[in-house]
Amino acid sequence: MTTHNLLLLPGDGIGVETIAEVERLIGFFNSKSNVVRFSVDRDLVGGAAYDAHGVAITDEAMAKAEKADAVIFGAVGGPKWANVPYQHRPEAGLLRLRKDLDLFANLRPAICYPALADASSLKRELVEGLDIMIVRELTGGVYFGEPKEIVTLENGERRAVDTQVYTTHEVERITKVAFDLARKRKNLVHSAEKHNVMRTGVLWKQVTTDVHKSYAPDVTLEHILADNCAMQLIRNPKQFDVIVTDNLFGDVLSDEAAMMTGSLGMLPSASLGAPDPKTGRRKALYEPVHGSAPDIAGKGLANPIATIASFAMALRYSFDLGAEADLVDKAIARVLEKGLRTGDIMQPGMTKVGTSEMGKAIEDELKSLAA
Ligand code: NAD
Repeated sequence: MTTHNLLLLPGDGIGVETIAEVERLIGFFNSKSNVVRFSVDRDLVGGAAYDAHGVAITDEAMAKAEKADAVIFGAVGGPKWANVPYQHRPEAGLLRLRKDLDLFANLRPAICYPALADASSLKRELVEGLDIMIVRELTGGVYFGEPKEIVTLENGERRAVDTQVYTTHEVERITKVAFDLARKRKNLVHSAEKHNVMRTGVLWKQVTTDVHKSYAPDVTLEHILADNCAMQLIRNPKQFDVIVTDNLFGDVLSDEAAMMTGSLGMLPSASLGAPDPKTGRRKALYEPVHGSAPDIAGKGLANPIATIASFAMALRYSFDLGAEADLVDKAIARVLEKGLRTGDIMQPGMTKVGTSEMGKAIEDELKSLAA
Protein backbone atom coordinates (compact mmCIF):
# COMPACT_ATOMS: atom_id res chain seq x y z
CA MET A 1 0.00 0.00 0.00
CA THR A 2 1.30 3.48 -0.92
CA THR A 3 1.21 6.12 1.81
CA HIS A 4 0.98 9.79 0.83
CA ASN A 5 1.94 12.43 3.39
CA LEU A 6 -0.39 15.41 3.56
CA LEU A 7 0.19 18.56 5.56
CA LEU A 8 -3.05 20.39 6.38
CA LEU A 9 -2.72 24.12 7.08
CA PRO A 10 -6.27 25.36 7.78
CA GLY A 11 -5.20 28.91 8.72
CA ASP A 12 -7.88 31.39 9.72
CA GLY A 13 -11.59 32.11 9.36
CA ILE A 14 -13.46 29.79 7.02
CA GLY A 15 -10.18 27.99 6.17
CA VAL A 16 -10.65 26.04 9.40
CA GLU A 17 -14.23 25.10 8.47
CA THR A 18 -13.56 24.08 4.87
CA ILE A 19 -10.43 22.03 5.70
CA ALA A 20 -12.55 20.07 8.23
CA GLU A 21 -14.66 18.92 5.26
CA VAL A 22 -11.53 17.80 3.40
CA GLU A 23 -10.58 15.74 6.47
CA ARG A 24 -13.94 14.04 6.13
CA LEU A 25 -13.02 12.93 2.58
CA ILE A 26 -9.51 11.85 3.63
CA GLY A 27 -11.19 9.67 6.26
CA PHE A 28 -13.41 8.21 3.56
CA PHE A 29 -10.47 7.30 1.29
CA ASN A 30 -8.47 5.87 4.21
CA SER A 31 -11.36 3.62 5.26
CA LYS A 32 -12.25 2.60 1.71
CA SER A 33 -9.07 1.99 -0.22
CA ASN A 34 -6.64 -0.84 0.28
CA VAL A 35 -4.31 0.63 -2.33
CA VAL A 36 -3.60 4.08 -0.98
CA ARG A 37 -3.43 5.71 2.44
CA PHE A 38 -3.11 9.32 3.47
CA SER A 39 -1.06 10.12 6.53
CA VAL A 40 -2.07 13.53 7.83
CA ASP A 41 -0.10 16.13 9.74
CA ARG A 42 -1.44 19.56 10.71
CA ASP A 43 0.05 22.91 11.63
CA LEU A 44 -0.79 26.57 12.04
CA VAL A 45 -0.41 29.34 9.49
CA GLY A 46 -1.48 32.98 9.24
CA GLY A 47 -3.13 34.75 12.15
CA ALA A 48 -3.50 31.48 14.05
CA ALA A 49 0.28 30.92 13.90
CA TYR A 50 0.91 34.55 14.89
CA ASP A 51 -1.32 34.21 17.97
CA ALA A 52 0.45 31.01 19.04
CA HIS A 53 4.06 31.73 18.02
CA GLY A 54 4.38 35.41 17.01
CA VAL A 55 5.13 34.56 13.34
CA ALA A 56 2.87 33.79 10.33
CA ILE A 57 4.49 30.37 9.91
CA THR A 58 7.14 28.68 12.07
CA ASP A 59 10.33 27.03 10.83
CA GLU A 60 8.93 23.72 12.11
CA ALA A 61 5.80 24.09 9.96
CA MET A 62 7.99 25.03 6.98
CA ALA A 63 10.08 21.89 7.54
CA LYS A 64 6.88 19.81 7.51
CA ALA A 65 5.79 21.52 4.27
CA GLU A 66 9.17 20.74 2.69
CA LYS A 67 8.80 17.06 3.57
CA ALA A 68 5.09 16.64 2.75
CA ASP A 69 3.96 15.12 -0.57
CA ALA A 70 1.34 17.88 -0.76
CA VAL A 71 0.18 20.79 1.37
CA ILE A 72 -3.56 21.49 1.61
CA PHE A 73 -4.04 25.11 2.62
CA GLY A 74 -7.25 26.79 3.85
CA ALA A 75 -7.06 30.60 3.99
CA VAL A 76 -5.37 33.28 6.05
CA GLY A 77 -6.13 36.76 7.32
CA GLY A 78 -8.80 38.76 9.03
CA PRO A 79 -9.42 42.07 10.84
CA LYS A 80 -8.03 40.69 14.10
CA TRP A 81 -4.52 40.90 12.63
CA ALA A 82 -4.88 44.23 10.83
CA ASN A 83 -2.25 45.88 13.05
CA VAL A 84 0.38 43.17 13.48
CA PRO A 85 3.92 44.08 12.27
CA TYR A 86 4.07 43.96 8.45
CA GLN A 87 6.53 41.05 8.28
CA HIS A 88 4.24 38.94 10.50
CA ARG A 89 0.92 39.68 8.75
CA PRO A 90 -1.07 36.48 8.04
CA GLU A 91 -0.39 36.59 4.27
CA ALA A 92 3.37 36.39 5.00
CA GLY A 93 2.82 32.71 5.88
CA LEU A 94 1.47 31.92 2.42
CA LEU A 95 4.13 34.03 0.69
CA ARG A 96 6.91 32.20 2.57
CA LEU A 97 5.45 28.84 1.56
CA ARG A 98 5.33 29.90 -2.11
CA LYS A 99 8.85 31.34 -2.00
CA ASP A 100 10.67 28.67 0.02
CA LEU A 101 9.02 25.80 -1.87
CA ASP A 102 9.71 27.69 -5.15
CA LEU A 103 6.15 27.18 -6.38
CA PHE A 104 6.54 28.70 -9.84
CA ALA A 105 3.47 27.22 -11.54
CA ASN A 106 0.00 28.35 -10.57
CA LEU A 107 -2.86 26.16 -11.81
CA ARG A 108 -6.34 27.61 -11.92
CA PRO A 109 -9.08 25.42 -13.39
CA ALA A 110 -12.33 26.89 -14.69
CA ILE A 111 -14.93 24.17 -14.42
CA CYS A 112 -18.61 24.74 -14.97
CA TYR A 113 -20.86 22.19 -13.28
CA PRO A 114 -24.01 21.76 -15.44
CA ALA A 115 -26.23 22.49 -12.40
CA LEU A 116 -24.67 25.94 -12.06
CA ALA A 117 -24.51 26.85 -15.76
CA ASP A 118 -27.41 29.31 -15.47
CA ALA A 119 -25.53 31.27 -12.80
CA SER A 120 -22.79 32.17 -15.34
CA SER A 121 -22.76 35.53 -17.07
CA LEU A 122 -22.33 33.63 -20.37
CA LYS A 123 -25.00 31.59 -22.14
CA ARG A 124 -25.57 28.04 -20.84
CA GLU A 125 -24.46 26.39 -24.09
CA LEU A 126 -21.12 28.23 -23.97
CA VAL A 127 -20.18 27.18 -20.42
CA GLU A 128 -22.02 23.96 -19.61
CA GLY A 129 -19.40 21.25 -19.10
CA LEU A 130 -16.53 23.75 -19.44
CA ASP A 131 -13.22 22.43 -18.11
CA ILE A 132 -10.16 24.64 -18.72
CA MET A 133 -6.84 24.75 -16.89
CA ILE A 134 -4.87 27.99 -16.84
CA VAL A 135 -1.19 27.52 -16.03
CA ARG A 136 0.32 30.82 -14.93
CA GLU A 137 4.04 31.44 -14.40
CA LEU A 138 4.10 32.77 -10.84
CA THR A 139 7.59 33.81 -9.82
CA GLY A 140 8.97 35.78 -12.79
CA GLY A 141 7.92 38.35 -15.37
CA VAL A 142 6.89 41.94 -14.94
CA TYR A 143 5.89 41.64 -11.27
CA PHE A 144 9.48 40.92 -10.27
CA GLY A 145 11.73 42.25 -13.10
CA GLU A 146 14.23 45.04 -12.35
CA PRO A 147 14.35 48.01 -12.72
CA LYS A 148 11.01 48.58 -11.06
CA GLU A 149 10.75 52.19 -9.97
CA ILE A 150 9.19 55.61 -10.20
CA VAL A 151 11.78 58.35 -10.88
CA THR A 152 11.45 62.11 -11.17
CA LEU A 153 12.94 63.45 -14.40
CA GLU A 154 14.90 66.70 -14.78
CA ASN A 155 11.82 68.48 -16.14
CA GLY A 156 9.86 67.51 -13.01
CA GLU A 157 7.79 64.85 -14.74
CA ARG A 158 7.65 61.44 -13.07
CA ARG A 159 8.35 58.21 -14.95
CA ALA A 160 7.36 54.69 -13.84
CA VAL A 161 9.12 51.55 -15.06
CA ASP A 162 8.23 47.88 -14.68
CA THR A 163 10.42 45.34 -16.43
CA GLN A 164 9.18 42.19 -18.12
CA VAL A 165 11.98 39.59 -18.00
CA TYR A 166 12.01 35.88 -18.78
CA THR A 167 14.88 33.43 -19.14
CA THR A 168 14.84 30.25 -21.22
CA HIS A 169 14.88 28.15 -18.05
CA GLU A 170 11.80 29.87 -16.61
CA VAL A 171 9.78 29.35 -19.80
CA GLU A 172 10.96 25.77 -20.20
CA ARG A 173 9.89 24.65 -16.74
CA ILE A 174 6.41 26.21 -16.88
CA THR A 175 5.84 24.82 -20.37
CA LYS A 176 6.74 21.31 -19.16
CA VAL A 177 4.15 21.63 -16.38
CA ALA A 178 1.52 22.53 -19.00
CA PHE A 179 2.43 19.54 -21.21
CA ASP A 180 2.42 17.17 -18.21
CA LEU A 181 -1.06 18.39 -17.27
CA ALA A 182 -2.38 18.15 -20.82
CA ARG A 183 -1.37 14.50 -20.92
CA LYS A 184 -3.74 13.88 -17.98
CA ARG A 185 -6.49 15.85 -19.75
CA LYS A 186 -7.34 16.39 -23.45
CA ASN A 187 -3.78 16.65 -24.74
CA LEU A 188 -4.07 20.24 -25.99
CA VAL A 189 -1.98 23.26 -24.90
CA HIS A 190 -2.46 26.87 -25.99
CA SER A 191 0.55 29.08 -25.26
CA ALA A 192 -0.49 32.73 -24.88
CA GLU A 193 1.99 35.59 -25.32
CA LYS A 194 2.45 38.79 -27.36
CA HIS A 195 5.34 37.96 -29.70
CA ASN A 196 4.03 40.62 -32.10
CA VAL A 197 5.04 43.46 -29.73
CA MET A 198 7.20 42.02 -26.92
CA ARG A 199 10.69 40.48 -26.99
CA THR A 200 9.72 38.23 -24.06
CA GLY A 201 6.85 37.04 -26.26
CA VAL A 202 9.31 36.14 -29.05
CA LEU A 203 11.47 34.14 -26.61
CA TRP A 204 8.37 32.54 -25.02
CA LYS A 205 7.14 31.35 -28.42
CA GLN A 206 10.57 29.98 -29.45
CA VAL A 207 11.10 28.13 -26.16
CA THR A 208 7.60 26.62 -26.03
CA THR A 209 8.08 25.42 -29.63
CA ASP A 210 11.45 23.83 -28.74
CA VAL A 211 10.11 22.18 -25.56
CA HIS A 212 7.17 20.85 -27.54
CA LYS A 213 9.51 19.20 -30.07
CA SER A 214 11.89 17.67 -27.54
CA TYR A 215 9.60 16.95 -24.58
CA ALA A 216 6.00 16.55 -25.72
CA PRO A 217 5.53 15.87 -29.45
CA ASP A 218 2.51 13.74 -28.45
CA VAL A 219 0.65 16.83 -27.18
CA THR A 220 -0.91 19.38 -29.56
CA LEU A 221 0.55 22.88 -29.12
CA GLU A 222 -1.19 26.02 -30.43
CA HIS A 223 0.25 29.54 -30.13
CA ILE A 224 -2.23 32.33 -29.46
CA LEU A 225 -1.79 36.06 -28.85
CA ALA A 226 -2.82 36.84 -25.27
CA ASP A 227 -5.37 39.49 -26.31
CA ASN A 228 -6.99 37.06 -28.76
CA CYS A 229 -7.00 34.44 -25.98
CA ALA A 230 -9.00 36.84 -23.78
CA MET A 231 -11.53 37.29 -26.61
CA GLN A 232 -11.74 33.59 -27.45
CA LEU A 233 -12.37 32.74 -23.79
CA ILE A 234 -15.59 34.73 -23.97
CA ARG A 235 -16.51 33.75 -27.55
CA ASN A 236 -15.95 29.99 -27.37
CA PRO A 237 -14.30 28.89 -24.12
CA LYS A 238 -14.74 25.16 -24.74
CA GLN A 239 -12.09 25.25 -27.52
CA PHE A 240 -9.43 25.32 -24.76
CA ASP A 241 -7.95 22.58 -22.59
CA VAL A 242 -4.70 23.88 -21.01
CA ILE A 243 -3.56 27.50 -21.44
CA VAL A 244 0.03 28.31 -20.44
CA THR A 245 1.07 31.91 -20.06
CA ASP A 246 3.25 34.36 -18.16
CA ASN A 247 2.64 35.97 -14.77
CA LEU A 248 0.84 39.11 -15.97
CA PHE A 249 -1.35 37.59 -18.71
CA GLY A 250 -2.03 34.62 -16.42
CA ASP A 251 -3.24 36.88 -13.63
CA VAL A 252 -5.84 38.41 -15.96
CA LEU A 253 -6.81 35.33 -17.99
CA SER A 254 -7.25 33.08 -14.93
CA ASP A 255 -9.63 35.54 -13.26
CA GLU A 256 -11.54 35.95 -16.52
CA ALA A 257 -11.88 32.19 -17.03
CA ALA A 258 -12.75 31.41 -13.42
CA MET A 259 -15.44 34.02 -13.10
CA MET A 260 -17.33 32.63 -16.10
CA THR A 261 -18.21 29.70 -13.89
CA GLY A 262 -19.66 31.26 -10.75
CA SER A 263 -18.77 31.93 -7.12
CA LEU A 264 -15.45 32.30 -5.31
CA GLY A 265 -16.62 29.44 -3.11
CA MET A 266 -16.31 27.07 -6.10
CA LEU A 267 -12.76 27.87 -7.26
CA PRO A 268 -9.82 25.58 -6.46
CA SER A 269 -6.15 26.17 -7.28
CA ALA A 270 -2.74 24.57 -7.07
CA SER A 271 0.82 25.85 -7.04
CA LEU A 272 3.57 23.49 -8.15
CA GLY A 273 7.36 23.55 -7.89
CA ALA A 274 10.18 21.61 -9.50
CA PRO A 275 10.06 17.80 -9.66
CA ASP A 276 12.05 15.91 -7.05
CA PRO A 277 15.09 14.42 -8.88
CA LYS A 278 14.51 11.00 -7.25
CA THR A 279 10.73 10.57 -7.21
CA GLY A 280 9.69 12.98 -9.98
CA ARG A 281 7.00 14.36 -7.66
CA ARG A 282 6.65 18.12 -7.64
CA LYS A 283 6.42 20.25 -4.51
CA ALA A 284 2.77 21.24 -4.33
CA LEU A 285 0.34 23.42 -2.43
CA TYR A 286 -3.40 23.18 -3.04
CA GLU A 287 -5.76 25.94 -1.87
CA PRO A 288 -9.10 27.53 -2.61
CA VAL A 289 -8.91 30.86 -4.45
CA HIS A 290 -11.03 32.58 -1.79
CA GLY A 291 -9.79 34.18 1.43
CA SER A 292 -10.78 33.70 5.06
CA ALA A 293 -14.19 35.44 4.60
CA PRO A 294 -14.35 37.09 8.05
CA ASP A 295 -17.95 38.18 7.35
CA ILE A 296 -19.19 34.58 7.50
CA ALA A 297 -16.41 32.86 9.48
CA GLY A 298 -17.41 30.63 12.39
CA LYS A 299 -21.05 30.50 11.30
CA GLY A 300 -21.01 27.27 9.31
CA LEU A 301 -22.03 29.15 6.15
CA ALA A 302 -18.92 28.75 3.97
CA ASN A 303 -19.03 26.77 0.76
CA PRO A 304 -16.45 23.97 1.19
CA ILE A 305 -16.44 22.97 -2.52
CA ALA A 306 -13.42 25.14 -3.52
CA THR A 307 -11.31 23.46 -0.83
CA ILE A 308 -12.67 19.98 -1.56
CA ALA A 309 -12.00 20.49 -5.29
CA SER A 310 -8.46 21.62 -4.37
CA PHE A 311 -8.00 18.27 -2.59
CA ALA A 312 -9.30 16.54 -5.74
CA MET A 313 -6.58 18.39 -7.70
CA ALA A 314 -4.02 16.98 -5.25
CA LEU A 315 -5.35 13.47 -5.93
CA ARG A 316 -5.04 14.00 -9.68
CA TYR A 317 -1.85 15.99 -10.04
CA SER A 318 0.31 14.99 -7.03
CA PHE A 319 -0.73 11.37 -6.56
CA ASP A 320 -1.85 10.27 -10.02
CA LEU A 321 -5.17 9.16 -8.53
CA GLY A 322 -7.26 10.31 -11.50
CA ALA A 323 -10.10 7.84 -10.86
CA GLU A 324 -10.43 8.99 -7.24
CA ALA A 325 -10.32 12.65 -8.31
CA ASP A 326 -13.05 11.93 -10.88
CA LEU A 327 -15.15 10.38 -8.09
CA VAL A 328 -14.85 13.52 -5.96
CA ASP A 329 -15.73 15.77 -8.93
CA LYS A 330 -18.69 13.55 -9.77
CA ALA A 331 -19.90 13.60 -6.15
CA ILE A 332 -19.77 17.43 -6.18
CA ALA A 333 -21.72 17.53 -9.48
CA ARG A 334 -24.38 15.15 -8.14
CA VAL A 335 -24.91 17.11 -4.92
CA LEU A 336 -25.39 20.26 -7.00
CA GLU A 337 -27.79 18.41 -9.34
CA LYS A 338 -29.84 17.43 -6.30
CA GLY A 339 -30.30 21.14 -5.56
CA LEU A 340 -28.10 21.54 -2.48
CA ARG A 341 -26.60 25.03 -2.26
CA THR A 342 -24.58 27.04 0.23
CA GLY A 343 -25.58 30.71 0.51
CA ASP A 344 -23.03 31.98 -2.04
CA ILE A 345 -24.48 29.83 -4.87
CA MET A 346 -28.12 29.82 -3.71
CA GLN A 347 -30.74 29.92 -6.49
CA PRO A 348 -34.54 30.04 -6.29
CA GLY A 349 -36.13 26.64 -5.61
CA MET A 350 -32.92 25.07 -4.27
CA THR A 351 -32.19 23.79 -0.76
CA LYS A 352 -29.91 25.94 1.36
CA VAL A 353 -27.33 24.04 3.42
CA GLY A 354 -24.35 24.89 5.63
CA THR A 355 -20.68 23.94 5.37
CA SER A 356 -20.80 20.58 7.11
CA GLU A 357 -24.10 19.55 5.49
CA MET A 358 -22.52 20.19 2.09
CA GLY A 359 -19.37 18.24 3.06
CA LYS A 360 -21.43 15.36 4.42
CA ALA A 361 -23.62 15.27 1.29
CA ILE A 362 -20.48 15.04 -0.90
CA GLU A 363 -19.11 12.24 1.30
CA ASP A 364 -22.46 10.38 1.05
CA GLU A 365 -22.40 10.68 -2.76
CA LEU A 366 -18.82 9.41 -2.77
CA LYS A 367 -19.88 6.41 -0.73
CA SER A 368 -22.70 5.59 -3.14
CA LEU A 369 -20.51 6.15 -6.23
CA ALA A 370 -17.78 3.93 -4.83
CA ALA A 371 -20.17 1.19 -3.64
P1 NAD B 1 -12.69 36.60 0.68
O1 NAD B 1 -12.43 35.68 -0.44
O2 NAD B 1 -12.32 36.13 2.03
O3 NAD B 1 -14.24 36.99 0.68
C1 NAD B 1 -14.88 37.75 -0.36
C2 NAD B 1 -16.40 37.53 -0.29
O4 NAD B 1 -16.71 36.21 -0.78
C3 NAD B 1 -16.96 37.58 1.14
O5 NAD B 1 -18.25 38.17 1.10
C4 NAD B 1 -17.06 36.13 1.54
O6 NAD B 1 -18.08 35.88 2.49
C5 NAD B 1 -17.36 35.43 0.21
N1 NAD B 1 -16.77 34.09 0.19
C6 NAD B 1 -15.47 33.78 0.00
N2 NAD B 1 -15.28 32.47 0.07
C7 NAD B 1 -16.48 31.93 0.30
C8 NAD B 1 -16.95 30.59 0.50
N3 NAD B 1 -16.11 29.54 0.46
N4 NAD B 1 -18.26 30.38 0.74
C9 NAD B 1 -19.12 31.42 0.77
N5 NAD B 1 -18.76 32.71 0.60
C10 NAD B 1 -17.45 32.96 0.37
O7 NAD B 1 -11.93 37.97 0.34
P2 NAD B 1 -11.78 39.29 1.23
O8 NAD B 1 -13.04 39.53 2.00
O9 NAD B 1 -11.26 40.31 0.32
O10 NAD B 1 -10.60 38.96 2.27
C11 NAD B 1 -10.81 38.48 3.60
C12 NAD B 1 -9.48 38.13 4.22
O11 NAD B 1 -8.91 37.03 3.51
C13 NAD B 1 -8.45 39.25 4.14
O12 NAD B 1 -7.70 39.24 5.33
C14 NAD B 1 -7.59 38.88 2.94
O13 NAD B 1 -6.28 39.40 3.05
C15 NAD B 1 -7.59 37.37 3.07
N6 NAD B 1 -7.34 36.65 1.81
C16 NAD B 1 -6.59 35.52 1.92
C17 NAD B 1 -6.38 34.73 0.80
C18 NAD B 1 -5.62 33.45 0.98
O14 NAD B 1 -5.49 32.98 2.11
N7 NAD B 1 -5.15 32.84 -0.09
C19 NAD B 1 -6.92 35.09 -0.44
C20 NAD B 1 -7.70 36.26 -0.52
C21 NAD B 1 -7.90 37.02 0.62
